[in-house]
Amino acid sequence: MEYRRLGKSGLQVSSLSLGSWLTFGNQISDKVADELMGIAYDAGVNFFDNAEGYAEGRSEIVMGKILKAQKWARESFVVSSKVFFGAENKGPNQMGLSRKHVIEACNAALKRLQVDYLDLYFCHRPDKQTPIDETVWAMNILLQQGKILYWGTSEWSAAEIMEAIAVAKQLNLIGPTMEQPQYNLLERNKLENEYLHLFETHGLGTTIWSPLASGLLSGKYTTGDTKNTRLELKGMEWLKNKTLAADRLKKVEDLQKLADKMNLSLAKLSLAWCLKNPNVSTMILGASKSAQLKENLTVLEVVPLLTDKVMESIDKLMGTKPVLSAF
Ligand code: NDP
Repeated sequence: MEYRRLGKSGLQVSSLSLGSWLTFGNQISDKVADELMGIAYDAGVNFFDNAEGYAEGRSEIVMGKILKAQKWARESFVVSSKVFFGAENKGPNQMGLSRKHVIEACNAALKRLQVDYLDLYFCHRPDKQTPIDETVWAMNILLQQGKILYWGTSEWSAAEIMEAIAVAKQLNLIGPTMEQPQYNLLERNKLENEYLHLFETHGLGTTIWSPLASGLLSGKYTTGDTKNTRLELKGMEWLKNKTLAADRLKKVEDLQKLADKMNLSLAKLSLAWCLKNPNVSTMILGASKSAQLKENLTVLEVVPLLTDKVMESIDKLMGTKPVLSAF
Protein backbone atom coordinates (compact mmCIF):
# COMPACT_ATOMS: atom_id res chain seq x y z
CA MET A 1 0.00 0.00 0.00
CA GLU A 2 1.07 3.56 -0.57
CA TYR A 3 0.27 6.28 1.99
CA ARG A 4 -0.20 9.94 1.14
CA ARG A 5 -0.52 13.02 3.33
CA LEU A 6 -4.02 14.40 3.51
CA GLY A 7 -3.08 17.70 1.91
CA LYS A 8 -0.72 19.68 4.10
CA SER A 9 -1.95 17.96 7.27
CA GLY A 10 0.14 15.47 9.21
CA LEU A 11 -2.38 12.67 8.65
CA GLN A 12 -1.38 9.81 6.35
CA VAL A 13 -4.12 8.04 4.43
CA SER A 14 -3.76 4.97 2.25
CA SER A 15 -4.00 6.05 -1.39
CA LEU A 16 -6.75 3.42 -1.76
CA SER A 17 -9.63 3.59 0.70
CA LEU A 18 -13.05 1.96 0.99
CA GLY A 19 -16.49 3.59 0.98
CA SER A 20 -19.95 2.34 1.82
CA TRP A 21 -22.39 4.42 -0.29
CA LEU A 22 -25.24 2.26 -1.68
CA THR A 23 -23.55 -0.93 -0.49
CA PHE A 24 -23.41 -1.17 3.34
CA GLY A 25 -26.87 -1.54 4.89
CA ASN A 26 -28.45 -1.60 1.42
CA GLN A 27 -27.18 -3.49 -1.65
CA ILE A 28 -24.99 -6.03 0.19
CA SER A 29 -25.37 -8.27 3.23
CA ASP A 30 -23.57 -7.47 6.47
CA LYS A 31 -21.44 -10.58 5.87
CA VAL A 32 -20.18 -9.23 2.54
CA ALA A 33 -19.55 -5.82 4.14
CA ASP A 34 -17.42 -7.58 6.77
CA GLU A 35 -15.48 -9.47 4.07
CA LEU A 36 -14.85 -6.26 2.13
CA MET A 37 -13.52 -4.38 5.15
CA GLY A 38 -11.30 -7.34 6.08
CA ILE A 39 -9.85 -7.58 2.56
CA ALA A 40 -9.23 -3.83 2.49
CA TYR A 41 -7.63 -3.65 5.94
CA ASP A 42 -5.39 -6.64 5.22
CA ALA A 43 -4.22 -4.90 2.04
CA GLY A 44 -3.18 -1.84 4.07
CA VAL A 45 -6.27 0.33 3.53
CA ASN A 46 -6.52 2.61 6.56
CA PHE A 47 -9.47 4.84 5.63
CA PHE A 48 -13.13 3.84 5.66
CA ASP A 49 -15.64 6.42 4.43
CA ASN A 50 -19.20 6.84 5.65
CA ALA A 51 -21.99 9.42 6.05
CA GLU A 52 -25.12 9.97 8.13
CA GLY A 53 -27.14 9.82 4.92
CA TYR A 54 -25.88 6.43 3.67
CA ALA A 55 -28.81 3.99 3.92
CA GLU A 56 -30.33 6.49 6.38
CA GLY A 57 -27.73 5.72 9.04
CA ARG A 58 -27.70 1.93 8.54
CA SER A 59 -24.37 2.06 6.71
CA GLU A 60 -22.73 3.50 9.84
CA ILE A 61 -24.41 0.91 12.04
CA VAL A 62 -23.06 -1.93 9.87
CA MET A 63 -19.56 -0.41 9.76
CA GLY A 64 -19.62 0.20 13.52
CA LYS A 65 -20.45 -3.45 14.24
CA ILE A 66 -17.63 -4.60 11.97
CA LEU A 67 -15.09 -2.22 13.53
CA LYS A 68 -16.07 -3.45 16.97
CA ALA A 69 -15.95 -7.15 16.05
CA GLN A 70 -12.65 -6.86 14.19
CA LYS A 71 -11.00 -5.26 17.23
CA TRP A 72 -8.50 -3.38 15.04
CA ALA A 73 -6.38 -0.92 17.02
CA ARG A 74 -8.18 2.42 16.90
CA GLU A 75 -5.01 4.20 15.81
CA SER A 76 -4.64 1.84 12.83
CA PHE A 77 -7.65 3.18 10.92
CA VAL A 78 -9.27 6.44 9.92
CA VAL A 79 -13.05 6.59 9.80
CA SER A 80 -15.26 9.38 8.54
CA SER A 81 -18.81 10.59 8.65
CA LYS A 82 -20.57 13.38 6.79
CA VAL A 83 -23.31 15.74 7.85
CA PHE A 84 -25.95 17.46 5.73
CA PHE A 85 -28.50 15.02 4.30
CA GLY A 86 -29.81 13.74 7.67
CA ALA A 87 -30.17 10.08 8.69
CA GLU A 88 -33.58 8.39 9.07
CA ASN A 89 -35.50 11.55 10.01
CA LYS A 90 -35.59 14.65 7.83
CA GLY A 91 -37.18 17.29 10.11
CA PRO A 92 -36.17 20.97 9.88
CA ASN A 93 -33.28 20.63 12.32
CA GLN A 94 -32.28 17.13 11.26
CA MET A 95 -30.50 18.16 8.07
CA GLY A 96 -28.13 20.92 6.94
CA LEU A 97 -25.14 22.57 8.57
CA SER A 98 -26.60 24.51 11.51
CA ARG A 99 -24.63 24.29 14.76
CA LYS A 100 -27.49 22.20 16.17
CA HIS A 101 -27.45 19.62 13.41
CA VAL A 102 -23.67 19.49 12.93
CA ILE A 103 -23.20 18.68 16.63
CA GLU A 104 -26.18 16.35 16.99
CA ALA A 105 -25.28 14.50 13.79
CA CYS A 106 -21.72 13.99 15.02
CA ASN A 107 -22.95 12.55 18.33
CA ALA A 108 -25.34 10.25 16.45
CA ALA A 109 -22.60 9.09 14.06
CA LEU A 110 -20.28 8.31 16.99
CA LYS A 111 -22.99 6.09 18.48
CA ARG A 112 -23.76 4.30 15.21
CA LEU A 113 -20.07 3.77 14.42
CA GLN A 114 -19.32 2.84 18.06
CA VAL A 115 -16.20 5.01 18.18
CA ASP A 116 -15.13 7.81 20.55
CA TYR A 117 -14.09 10.18 17.75
CA LEU A 118 -14.32 10.58 13.98
CA ASP A 119 -11.00 11.10 12.24
CA LEU A 120 -12.61 12.99 9.37
CA TYR A 121 -15.92 14.85 9.41
CA PHE A 122 -17.27 16.32 6.20
CA CYS A 123 -19.95 18.87 5.37
CA HIS A 124 -21.57 16.66 2.72
CA ARG A 125 -22.85 19.64 0.68
CA PRO A 126 -22.81 23.43 1.18
CA ASP A 127 -25.77 24.80 3.14
CA LYS A 128 -26.88 28.07 1.55
CA GLN A 129 -29.22 28.82 4.50
CA THR A 130 -26.63 28.69 7.31
CA PRO A 131 -23.98 31.40 7.80
CA ILE A 132 -20.56 29.92 7.13
CA ASP A 133 -19.14 31.15 10.46
CA GLU A 134 -21.80 29.12 12.31
CA THR A 135 -20.64 25.92 10.58
CA VAL A 136 -16.94 26.74 11.03
CA TRP A 137 -17.56 27.35 14.74
CA ALA A 138 -19.56 24.13 15.12
CA MET A 139 -16.71 22.14 13.57
CA ASN A 140 -14.23 23.84 15.90
CA ILE A 141 -16.33 23.02 18.95
CA LEU A 142 -16.22 19.36 17.94
CA LEU A 143 -12.46 19.60 17.36
CA GLN A 144 -12.00 21.10 20.83
CA GLN A 145 -14.14 18.36 22.36
CA GLY A 146 -11.96 15.73 20.65
CA LYS A 147 -14.99 14.31 18.84
CA ILE A 148 -13.46 14.95 15.42
CA LEU A 149 -9.82 15.28 14.35
CA TYR A 150 -10.09 16.99 10.94
CA TRP A 151 -13.02 18.58 9.17
CA GLY A 152 -13.69 19.16 5.52
CA THR A 153 -16.21 19.66 2.76
CA SER A 154 -17.73 17.65 -0.05
CA GLU A 155 -18.78 19.06 -3.40
CA TRP A 156 -18.27 22.66 -2.33
CA SER A 157 -17.19 25.21 -4.91
CA ALA A 158 -13.68 26.67 -4.66
CA ALA A 159 -15.24 29.99 -3.63
CA GLU A 160 -17.17 28.34 -0.77
CA ILE A 161 -14.07 26.54 0.49
CA MET A 162 -12.06 29.76 0.27
CA GLU A 163 -14.74 31.53 2.32
CA ALA A 164 -14.59 28.86 5.02
CA ILE A 165 -10.77 29.14 5.11
CA ALA A 166 -10.96 32.94 5.32
CA VAL A 167 -13.58 32.91 8.09
CA ALA A 168 -11.57 30.38 10.09
CA LYS A 169 -8.44 32.51 9.74
CA GLN A 170 -10.28 35.64 10.80
CA LEU A 171 -11.65 33.93 13.92
CA ASN A 172 -8.42 32.06 14.74
CA LEU A 173 -10.17 28.78 14.16
CA ILE A 174 -9.19 25.68 12.20
CA GLY A 175 -10.41 25.65 8.60
CA PRO A 176 -11.21 22.71 6.32
CA THR A 177 -8.37 20.24 5.76
CA MET A 178 -9.88 18.24 2.91
CA GLU A 179 -12.58 18.19 0.26
CA GLN A 180 -14.38 15.13 -1.11
CA PRO A 181 -15.14 15.73 -4.78
CA GLN A 182 -16.13 13.36 -7.55
CA TYR A 183 -13.09 12.61 -9.70
CA ASN A 184 -12.82 10.21 -12.59
CA LEU A 185 -12.13 10.19 -16.33
CA LEU A 186 -15.51 11.81 -16.96
CA GLU A 187 -15.51 14.44 -14.17
CA ARG A 188 -12.25 16.33 -14.09
CA ASN A 189 -12.95 20.03 -13.67
CA LYS A 190 -12.83 20.47 -9.87
CA LEU A 191 -9.55 18.60 -9.35
CA GLU A 192 -7.75 19.78 -12.46
CA ASN A 193 -9.01 23.33 -12.70
CA GLU A 194 -11.29 24.84 -10.07
CA TYR A 195 -9.31 23.76 -6.97
CA LEU A 196 -5.76 24.34 -8.25
CA HIS A 197 -5.33 27.50 -6.23
CA LEU A 198 -6.56 25.74 -3.07
CA PHE A 199 -3.99 22.97 -3.57
CA GLU A 200 -1.12 25.35 -4.21
CA THR A 201 -1.88 28.02 -1.63
CA HIS A 202 -3.74 26.18 1.12
CA GLY A 203 -2.57 22.57 0.80
CA LEU A 204 -6.12 21.21 0.59
CA GLY A 205 -6.31 17.40 0.71
CA THR A 206 -8.81 15.33 -1.30
CA THR A 207 -10.64 12.06 -0.75
CA ILE A 208 -12.07 11.50 -4.21
CA TRP A 209 -15.33 9.61 -4.87
CA SER A 210 -16.76 7.45 -7.66
CA PRO A 211 -13.43 6.80 -9.38
CA LEU A 212 -15.23 4.33 -11.69
CA ALA A 213 -18.23 6.66 -12.22
CA SER A 214 -20.42 4.07 -10.46
CA GLY A 215 -18.91 1.13 -12.38
CA LEU A 216 -19.29 2.68 -15.85
CA LEU A 217 -15.50 2.99 -16.20
CA SER A 218 -15.07 -0.76 -15.68
CA GLY A 219 -16.60 -1.11 -19.15
CA LYS A 220 -19.30 -3.50 -17.97
CA TYR A 221 -22.24 -1.43 -19.22
CA THR A 222 -21.28 -1.28 -22.87
CA THR A 223 -23.32 -4.47 -23.44
CA GLY A 224 -26.34 -2.79 -21.81
CA ASP A 225 -26.57 -5.47 -19.08
CA THR A 226 -27.30 -3.92 -15.67
CA LYS A 227 -28.30 -7.11 -13.79
CA ASN A 228 -27.03 -7.39 -10.20
CA THR A 229 -25.67 -3.85 -10.16
CA ARG A 230 -26.45 -0.66 -8.26
CA LEU A 231 -28.25 0.64 -11.33
CA GLU A 232 -31.13 -1.74 -10.53
CA LEU A 233 -31.56 -0.52 -6.95
CA LYS A 234 -34.82 1.17 -6.03
CA GLY A 235 -34.59 4.95 -6.42
CA MET A 236 -31.50 4.80 -8.63
CA GLU A 237 -33.23 5.55 -11.93
CA TRP A 238 -31.45 8.93 -12.08
CA LEU A 239 -28.09 7.19 -11.78
CA LYS A 240 -29.03 4.61 -14.39
CA ASN A 241 -30.03 7.32 -16.89
CA LYS A 242 -26.84 9.27 -16.27
CA THR A 243 -24.59 6.20 -16.41
CA LEU A 244 -26.07 4.75 -19.58
CA ALA A 245 -26.09 8.02 -21.55
CA ALA A 246 -24.98 7.26 -25.13
CA ASP A 247 -22.11 9.79 -25.23
CA ARG A 248 -20.60 8.35 -22.05
CA LEU A 249 -20.90 4.76 -23.28
CA LYS A 250 -19.21 5.70 -26.55
CA LYS A 251 -16.19 7.18 -24.72
CA VAL A 252 -15.94 4.07 -22.56
CA GLU A 253 -16.03 1.81 -25.63
CA ASP A 254 -13.11 3.75 -27.12
CA LEU A 255 -11.18 3.57 -23.88
CA GLN A 256 -11.79 -0.17 -23.67
CA LYS A 257 -9.82 -0.59 -26.92
CA LEU A 258 -6.82 1.13 -25.35
CA ALA A 259 -7.10 -1.05 -22.22
CA ASP A 260 -7.26 -4.17 -24.44
CA LYS A 261 -4.11 -3.08 -26.27
CA MET A 262 -2.35 -2.63 -22.93
CA ASN A 263 -3.68 -5.98 -21.76
CA LEU A 264 -5.31 -4.34 -18.75
CA SER A 265 -8.83 -4.38 -17.38
CA LEU A 266 -10.57 -1.08 -18.01
CA ALA A 267 -11.36 -0.79 -14.28
CA LYS A 268 -7.66 -0.87 -13.44
CA LEU A 269 -6.73 1.57 -16.19
CA SER A 270 -9.40 4.03 -15.01
CA LEU A 271 -8.44 3.74 -11.34
CA ALA A 272 -4.71 4.04 -12.05
CA TRP A 273 -5.42 7.19 -14.05
CA CYS A 274 -7.00 8.82 -10.96
CA LEU A 275 -4.02 7.91 -8.78
CA LYS A 276 -1.60 9.61 -11.20
CA ASN A 277 -2.93 12.96 -10.01
CA PRO A 278 -0.77 14.05 -7.03
CA ASN A 279 -3.61 16.20 -5.70
CA VAL A 280 -5.55 13.01 -4.93
CA SER A 281 -4.75 12.13 -1.31
CA THR A 282 -6.90 9.00 -1.32
CA MET A 283 -9.20 7.37 -3.87
CA ILE A 284 -12.30 5.89 -2.26
CA LEU A 285 -13.13 2.54 -3.83
CA GLY A 286 -16.63 1.13 -3.86
CA ALA A 287 -17.39 -2.57 -4.25
CA SER A 288 -20.36 -4.88 -3.89
CA LYS A 289 -18.36 -8.07 -4.38
CA SER A 290 -15.04 -9.28 -2.95
CA ALA A 291 -13.70 -10.04 -6.44
CA GLN A 292 -14.21 -6.40 -7.50
CA LEU A 293 -12.35 -5.08 -4.47
CA LYS A 294 -9.52 -7.59 -4.86
CA GLU A 295 -9.07 -6.53 -8.49
CA ASN A 296 -9.18 -2.83 -7.64
CA LEU A 297 -6.68 -3.18 -4.82
CA THR A 298 -4.01 -4.32 -7.30
CA VAL A 299 -4.17 -1.02 -9.18
CA LEU A 300 -0.92 0.36 -7.77
CA GLU A 301 1.00 -2.06 -10.02
CA VAL A 302 -0.59 -0.45 -13.06
CA VAL A 303 0.21 3.20 -12.30
CA PRO A 304 3.77 3.05 -13.75
CA LEU A 305 2.34 1.80 -17.08
CA LEU A 306 0.55 5.11 -17.58
CA THR A 307 3.35 6.94 -19.38
CA ASP A 308 2.98 10.49 -20.70
CA LYS A 309 2.16 8.99 -24.09
CA VAL A 310 -0.61 6.82 -22.65
CA MET A 311 -1.98 9.77 -20.67
CA GLU A 312 -2.09 11.84 -23.86
CA SER A 313 -3.94 9.09 -25.74
CA ILE A 314 -6.47 8.90 -22.89
CA ASP A 315 -7.01 12.68 -23.03
CA LYS A 316 -7.64 12.48 -26.76
CA LEU A 317 -10.05 9.55 -26.50
CA MET A 318 -12.09 11.00 -23.65
CA GLY A 319 -12.14 14.69 -24.58
CA THR A 320 -12.85 15.58 -20.93
CA LYS A 321 -9.65 17.43 -20.01
CA PRO A 322 -10.67 20.83 -18.64
CA VAL A 323 -9.55 24.00 -20.30
CA LEU A 324 -7.73 25.92 -17.58
CA SER A 325 -9.43 29.11 -16.53
CA ALA A 326 -7.57 32.09 -15.13
CA PHE A 327 -8.25 32.16 -11.37
P1 NDP B 1 -17.06 3.71 -7.96
O1 NDP B 1 -17.33 4.73 -8.97
O2 NDP B 1 -15.72 3.07 -7.99
O3 NDP B 1 -18.20 2.61 -8.07
C1 NDP B 1 -18.13 1.43 -7.30
C2 NDP B 1 -19.09 0.41 -7.87
O4 NDP B 1 -18.67 0.03 -9.20
C3 NDP B 1 -19.10 -0.88 -7.08
O5 NDP B 1 -19.94 -0.79 -5.96
C4 NDP B 1 -19.57 -1.85 -8.13
O6 NDP B 1 -20.96 -1.63 -8.36
C5 NDP B 1 -18.79 -1.39 -9.36
N1 NDP B 1 -17.43 -1.93 -9.43
C6 NDP B 1 -16.38 -1.68 -8.60
N2 NDP B 1 -15.28 -2.32 -9.01
C7 NDP B 1 -15.61 -2.98 -10.14
C8 NDP B 1 -14.87 -3.80 -11.02
N3 NDP B 1 -13.58 -4.07 -10.82
N4 NDP B 1 -15.52 -4.32 -12.09
C9 NDP B 1 -16.83 -4.05 -12.30
N5 NDP B 1 -17.58 -3.28 -11.49
C10 NDP B 1 -16.97 -2.73 -10.42
O7 NDP B 1 -17.20 4.30 -6.48
P2 NDP B 1 -18.53 4.71 -5.64
O8 NDP B 1 -19.51 5.41 -6.50
O9 NDP B 1 -18.98 3.53 -4.88
O10 NDP B 1 -17.87 5.75 -4.66
C11 NDP B 1 -16.88 5.32 -3.72
C12 NDP B 1 -17.16 5.93 -2.38
O11 NDP B 1 -17.09 7.34 -2.46
C13 NDP B 1 -18.55 5.67 -1.79
O12 NDP B 1 -18.67 4.41 -1.20
C14 NDP B 1 -18.65 6.77 -0.77
O13 NDP B 1 -17.93 6.44 0.37
C15 NDP B 1 -17.98 7.93 -1.51
N6 NDP B 1 -18.97 8.79 -2.20
C16 NDP B 1 -19.09 10.07 -1.77
C17 NDP B 1 -19.99 10.93 -2.33
C18 NDP B 1 -20.08 12.33 -1.81
O14 NDP B 1 -21.02 13.06 -2.20
N7 NDP B 1 -19.20 12.76 -0.96
C19 NDP B 1 -20.88 10.51 -3.41
C20 NDP B 1 -20.66 9.15 -3.84
C21 NDP B 1 -19.72 8.34 -3.26
P3 NDP B 1 -22.04 -2.77 -8.73
O15 NDP B 1 -22.55 -3.31 -7.47
O16 NDP B 1 -23.07 -1.98 -9.45
O17 NDP B 1 -21.32 -3.80 -9.55
